[in-house]
Amino acid sequence: MKSQHVDIAVIGAGIVGLACAYYLALSKRTPKVAVIDPLPPMSLTSAASGENYRNWWPHPVMTAFTDFSTDLMEAISNESDNRLHMTRRGYALATRQANPDELLRQLHEGYGAEGAGKIRTHRKGSRSSYRPAASAEWQSAPDGVDIIQDRDILQRCFPTFDRDVATVLHIRRAGDISGQQLGSFMLERVRAKGGKVIRGRVVEISRTQNFTLKVVDEDSRTSLTTDIVVNAAGPSVGDVAALLGEKLPVVNVFQQKIAFEDVRGAIDRQMPFSIDLDGQAIDWTAQERAVLAEDPASEWLTKAMPGAIHCRPEGGDRGNWIKVGWAFNTTPSVPVPDLPLDANFPEIVLRGASRLNPGLKAYNGRLPSRLSHYGGYYTMTKENWPLIGPMNTDGAYVAGALSGFGTMGACATGALCARWVYGDALPAFARSLSLARYDDKTLMQSLLEGDTGVL
Ligand SMILES: Cc1cc2nc3c(=O)[nH]c(=O)nc-3n(C[C@H](O)[C@H](O)[C@H](O)COP(=O)(O)OP(=O)(O)OC[C@H]3O[C@@H](n4cnc5c(N)ncnc54)[C@H](O)[C@@H]3O)c2cc1C
Repeated sequence: MKSQHVDIAVIGAGIVGLACAYYLALSKRTPKVAVIDPLPPMSLTSAASGENYRNWWPHPVMTAFTDFSTDLMEAISNESDNRLHMTRRGYALATRQANPDELLRQLHEGYGAEGAGKIRTHRKGSRSSYRPAASAEWQSAPDGVDIIQDRDILQRCFPTFDRDVATVLHIRRAGDISGQQLGSFMLERVRAKGGKVIRGRVVEISRTQNFTLKVVDEDSRTSLTTDIVVNAAGPSVGDVAALLGEKLPVVNVFQQKIAFEDVRGAIDRQMPFSIDLDGQAIDWTAQERAVLAEDPASEWLTKAMPGAIHCRPEGGDRGNWIKVGWAFNTTPSVPVPDLPLDANFPEIVLRGASRLNPGLKAYNGRLPSRLSHYGGYYTMTKENWPLIGPMNTDGAYVAGALSGFGTMGACATGALCARWVYGDALPAFARSLSLARYDDKTLMQSLLEGDTGVL
């Protein structure tokens, strides 16, 4: 067995582990950092991400967290000639409600007093200053939120949307990035600072004066000693915690997506990432509905489905691919390498998405052959907030439970983790994202009663 020593061992080379290694390695303290993973970097959950980001959340803590992450992504974009392909056409949240009071209350709550000043309403007859998302460039995009309730603007600026849509909230600090590019940028920088990747699975952790990690690969065994352990094991974050004798309040929930070539041009290439907020009963034909209802395994598809189905153009203005997703599964499961992709999902998600974008109905029963169907696990806490900070074991830290926001939250997670490790000043919201929040019963009670912002 080989023996090695590093100052900091990061377990997991997904986007979260790489971001932790990156911000830890940037420190003037010049630590020796190793990232350990049996798989190639960025190849598990991080490869399944829709790669969208937003600062729209039902709670100001999550707004502050993703704003911080976006600041850091912008800094990397500036430093790297936008290697991470950061765009900013926003999120368009559509509802058929003309007076979505609860939604607007949540919007104000999420942005807090400071953000409320950047919420602009465009009603019929108002002199509208609404700027559509004509450009994908993040540097020139407006900030804040536009609430659009003027049908003329809706039809002009969202031409493919269902004509019954009465309100669109256009979240402006939102868009997409290439997570793979961000990951490889950070890994290159870690390597340039002397950091390394060790191929193998951590199967044992013991603690005496420092930690000893047993790392097993197909043809090698390594005994790695280290002063600091960062648990960034994605869906296995709970298993790695168990190696330390700890239990984390996380579950894994499988989610799927499809991407396909929009050969019929159903989606406007300038459309922001669009979400149908309204629940629906899928518009099956009477015959399809009868067949589905007959089988207890598929009967649920004939019943009410939740909102939040989403769709966006992929590959820029000149491309023709689109991505569609719907995180309707809420049942936790044990992660398995052979992903439980449901062969019916592409048809289900397409039918659902064609409610907001009726042009997609052209694909009913005849999805294009160039289609990719993929998925991964949302590793999440009940309240859908991440876990970033010290574990109970001295010297061990967790960076996990990034649910459906790990690509957008990776930079903030890495930067917060580095500050916890080095004892540097933390932003006000950091404690609420660590395990310490479970001591705040009032906060936890309010989070469990509120909307969790899962998309
Ligand atoms: C369908 C889908 C769509 C999504 N869309 C978005 C989106 O639009 N925007 C967004 O921000 N986020 C999105 N996400 C969420 C995002 O992809 C995840 O939050 C993020 O990728 C999690 O990264 P991670 O590094 O924690 O986990 P992973 O990428 O899973 O990495 C964890 C790594 O740890 C390694 N590991 C595990 N156990 C061990 C061990 N014992 N020893 C060594 N290594 C170990 C694994 O091999 C793996 O490589 C989406 C997720 C899914 C599933």
